[in-house]
Amino acid sequence: SYRARSSYKLIELDKKYDLIRPKDEGVIVDCGSAPGGWCQVLARLAQVKRGNDSSKGLAVAVDLLPMLPIAGVQFIQGDFTDASIKRRLSEAIGDRRVKLVLSDMAPAFSGHHTTDHARSMNLCENVMAFADEFLSSGGSLVCKYFMGGDENELRAELRKRFARVLSEKPDSSRKRSSERYFVCIDKKPDIG
Ligand code: SAM
Repeated sequence: SYRARSSYKLIELDKKYDLIRPKDEGVIVDCGSAPGGWCQVLARLAQVKRGNDSSKGLAVAVDLLPMLPIAGVQFIQGDFTDASIKRRLSEAIGDRRVKLVLSDMAPAFSGHHTTDHARSMNLCENVMAFADEFLSSGGSLVCKYFMGGDENELRAELRKRFARVLSEKPDSSRKRSSERYFVCIDKKPDIG
């Protein structure tokens, strides 16, 4: 059983887009990973799809909150938007290829829709900048966002960077919640 209901959202997205292909060389980065539902899915799919190989070096995960250990996942506690945490992520990645960046990050909700939307967009922009720097060409990005208007600009920016950009609302995401996910496939090679 999974630590979080959110696990089923990643399972759905993986079914549709085959995001987690354990044969791909490289590491996965999971942003906003606590309590660890998505990491558990990563670990299980790596095993199922890859046989009984060890899941060593599977993923690097980061969250403001603590997270109990998961085999194959190196966890860093801190603020993803913080330069010092970005350095620690970079060290954990080392010289490996990053094949997939995931973000299920959600801001601490104020209840004020415009504020929450703006905070969510800020997290997404940080994830996009991280992918610019660390994600390998050909790699994919999944990023949660909360609707509110500015996502159209974000989508346009993502389209410059990826061959395909889709907006998804998994069935397991609560209908009343304004959360959706950008699924970005096949990062273009760096230009310029
Ligand atoms: N995908 C996770 C799972 O399956 O267990 C659930 C993630 S939960 C919906 C969102 C998480 O984003 C929270 O744990 C929160 O602490 C984290 N978060 C929000 N802002 C963050 C930030 N700036 N840096 C790191 N984590 C952040």
